Amino acid sequence: MTTARPTAPVTQDVVTIPRKLPEGGRMNIVGLTRDQLRDALIAAGTPEKQAKMRVGQIWQWIYHWGVRDFSAMTNLAKDYRAMLAERFEIALPEIVTQQVSADGTRKYLLRIAGGHEVETVYIPEENRGTLCISSQVGCTLTCSFCHTGTQKLVRNLTAAEIVGQVMLARDDLGEWPEPGAPKNETRLVSNIVLMGMGEPLYNFDNVRDAMKVVMDGEGLTLSRRRITLSTSGVVPEIAKTAEEIGCLLAVSFHATTDEVRDKLVPINKRWNIETLLSALRDYPRLSNSERITFEYVMLKGVNDSDEDAKRLVKLIRGIPAKINLIPFNEWPGSPYERSDWERIEAFADIIYKAGYASPIRTPRGEDIMAACGQLKSATERARKSRAEIAAEAGLSGS
Ligand code: SAH
Ligand code: SF4
Repeated sequence: MTTARPTAPVTQDVVTIPRKLPEGGRMNIVGLTRDQLRDALIAAGTPEKQAKMRVGQIWQWIYHWGVRDFSAMTNLAKDYRAMLAERFEIALPEIVTQQVSADGTRKYLLRIAGGHEVETVYIPEENRGTLCISSQVGCTLTCSFCHTGTQKLVRNLTAAEIVGQVMLARDDLGEWPEPGAPKNETRLVSNIVLMGMGEPLYNFDNVRDAMKVVMDGEGLTLSRRRITLSTSGVVPEIAKTAEEIGCLLAVSFHATTDEVRDKLVPINKRWNIETLLSALRDYPRLSNSERITFEYVMLKGVNDSDEDAKRLVKLIRGIPAKINLIPFNEWPGSPYERSDWERIEAFADIIYKAGYASPIRTPRGEDIMAACGQLKSATERARKSRAEIAAEAGLSGS
């Protein structure tokens, strides 16, 4: 007998933190879009005519120079700086712990309002540095191979908490420019992937606003082509992502039949493979981006046969794509095993011969549980037993 996991929720019953603080509190500037900041400055008494210029000045201090103190914003009048300090704050999540892997990967555990915790991972590579950021505490979805999906508690991150992850990483890496220093062309945080905890498309507005701040040409300045959003397949939000964010898209595909995908990625019961593929077909045109990354986790004996590889290339025919094979990252109590290397290579070969790039993702930071799908906050860790996890994955008794 198998015990099915609950069907993937189609609405999000998660807590969203209101942007405005209670009466008398200070408003956090981090994560406000330019328009929102403009409105907030006007509401605080800035003459409308000056508002746009003030936004530009404050924006540069915060996102270009990494300044956290209004008194250091020397191109603003003293009494204006005092007003800002009284009405606003520049607040980031707090770093609780930081671990560095033998391979240089860094994992930050961050504490956010309400005492919740999320993780951010920095992955240095030869010619780039990728920051893997979280969009939610936990995840409402329950993919059976994912550690985050076993976490019960879920709350949406605010735009400030999402942008804050990027700013904290730059703090830690010492990446803010020194005044007067020559422009450094090599960026330590050169790429962002929304592949940490949570389903970004179930927190669409905050993710979009945060990415607008990150992409803005006058501050953090990461181009939309250096940002990859990974979704499990929230179909109605895919076209919106193309239109309102325009970043690169990755999709957690992981299976080639609805029967298997229903088990691995339960949101498939709501939007099946065919529905997902038709949304993906439109994405490159709508977002003016080149190709979609299909993520495919390699699970021994579950989705890794030659037939799967052949079905996969057939399914995605016509979509400009790259297939990223992810060797399964085990976590304590995980109900699956990683496919053998020969199997992964044979699978990659079939895809490659069909004309698709098929990189095998090197697992990074495994010694500090920082690899894909292993993120889960410390307070929530080990809540469920091995048996509970197996039962929920529909594996008990089989
Ligand atoms: N919720 C989004 C983004 C976060 S997960 C999504 O599901 O796409 C980032 C990637 O890690 C996804 O492709 C996910 O399927 C994969 N993943 C999750 N658990 C994993 C694990 N244990 N081993 C390898 N990859 C995993
Ligand atoms: Fe959520 Fe993504 Fe993990 Fe699925 S794989 S449970 S959508 S974080």
